[in-house]
Amino acid sequence: MNENVSSESPVVEESYRDRISTVDEQGKRVWIYPKKPKGTFYNARTIFSIFQLGILFALPFIKVDGHPFMQFDILGRKFILFGQAFWPQDFHLFALAIITFFVGIILFTAVYGRVFCGWGCPQTLFMEMLFRKIEYWIEGDAHRQRALARAPWTGEKIFKRSMKYAIFLGLSFLIGNLFLAYIIGVDRLFEIVTQPPAANPGGFTFVLIVTGITFFIYAYFREQLCLIVCPYGRLQSVLLDKESIVVAYDFKRGEPRGKRKKNQPDDHLGDCIDCKLCVQVCPTGIDIRNGTQLECINCTACIDACNSIMTKVNKPKGLIRYASYNAIEESRKSHITGRGVAYTVVLVGLAVLLTFLLTTRTDVETTVLRTPGVLYQRVEAEDALRNLYSVKVVNKTFDEIPVSFKLESHSGRVELIGVDHLDVESQEVAEGALFIYIPENDVQGPSMKIKVGVYNDETGELLQTVKTAFLGPAM
Ligand code: SF4
Ligand code: SF4
Repeated sequence: MNENVSSESPVVEESYRDRISTVDEQGKRVWIYPKKPKGTFYNARTIFSIFQLGILFALPFIKVDGHPFMQFDILGRKFILFGQAFWPQDFHLFALAIITFFVGIILFTAVYGRVFCGWGCPQTLFMEMLFRKIEYWIEGDAHRQRALARAPWTGEKIFKRSMKYAIFLGLSFLIGNLFLAYIIGVDRLFEIVTQPPAANPGGFTFVLIVTGITFFIYAYFREQLCLIVCPYGRLQSVLLDKESIVVAYDFKRGEPRGKRKKNQPDDHLGDCIDCKLCVQVCPTGIDIRNGTQLECINCTACIDACNSIMTKVNKPKGLIRYASYNAIEESRKSHITGRGVAYTVVLVGLAVLLTFLLTTRTDVETTVLRTPGVLYQRVEAEDALRNLYSVKVVNKTFDEIPVSFKLESHSGRVELIGVDHLDVESQEVAEGALFIYIPENDVQGPSMKIKVGVYNDETGELLQTVKTAFLGPAM
């Protein structure tokens, strides 16, 4: 890896920057060596990340009645969420869930800044809480890493770098398999892993590609993903306002900044002693004292760093803290704005709608369509009219369902052609044809709406009611 090692912090000193923090004047990448954070927030994030990693790695292994609890089978266009299978027919639910997710993200960004980046994003989780910790363990803190990067390729450097990249590669392979487990399920993954690559060339290639991309991201690309690739990071300038609660420097309290000199009064100085520890711990290489910036992923490392300094100089903690610009400017507490309330109302509305649709979702998806080009037929023996329909039933459950039909809205009957009931295999589609008979006296007009009940033929449970049209003679 070609690391452009700067002797000093990569942060540009002027208040206005015309490039991101990790690019130098020649346009070359500046490698960031963040000092290892220490403090309450870092400890909290470590504990939270253990919980997150546990969930992330455990979820593909959890099964309900022998079926995955979570699976995102993109190729098979089938998604299992919380043990429930979702099909392309449930796309409206999926779209609503995505909208709810994004409104949630927008709400959280407007009110709490990029709290998702710091606490919820898998990129930050893997980078800061997994790969970075391994790097600290092998290569030491920032100054040792910098020294190692500058050092010639001695035995020690070769050993440390080889060990680091070998572990990174192993972890990347593990993450690649984890992604695949979410897509194809652990059983299928186990088959791929235990069989020779030639037996599953597609799966094996996918794992190799994801492993390669993951390794590239965490060994080299790192914070560039947040700065250059992630669209959410780039959107924050339109999502944040002056009331958004972000990781912020209290310029009212901190300025004018300056180093304390022995035996000299410092009455004119603010609380910031210009130690730059907040800059040295920043994984994206910025100086938060310059205000909210595109690169800030709200990782809270600078809060911990500054709190430790404030404790040492006997000043109150919180010179860098979660606060809004207006709260700092007006020396008051941050509060939720009208925009935040409006977003919350929209979000709650969407969440309620989504919950309603999920709880009222049927086990089968049935379409009953009149066969085109065929009019009604008179059945003299029954004094009835009949229409011919084609029927299609999607079974969204993990069990086979024997399906039968009843006419719900009128007297009359349904006759499946050639069979007693339709056997619909688990997560399959069954098709058939049926006649619907309605006594001639009950037929009102050339086209009337009717309702057909879809039943589990074994248990008698009503699974769904579908509407269709019935043709009769003109009155
Ligand atoms: S400015 Fe602070 S919170 Fe933002 S990325 Fe840097 S260290 Fe993390
Ligand atoms: S860590 Fe605190 S005191 Fe030190 S430079 Fe940053 S804001 Fe100032």
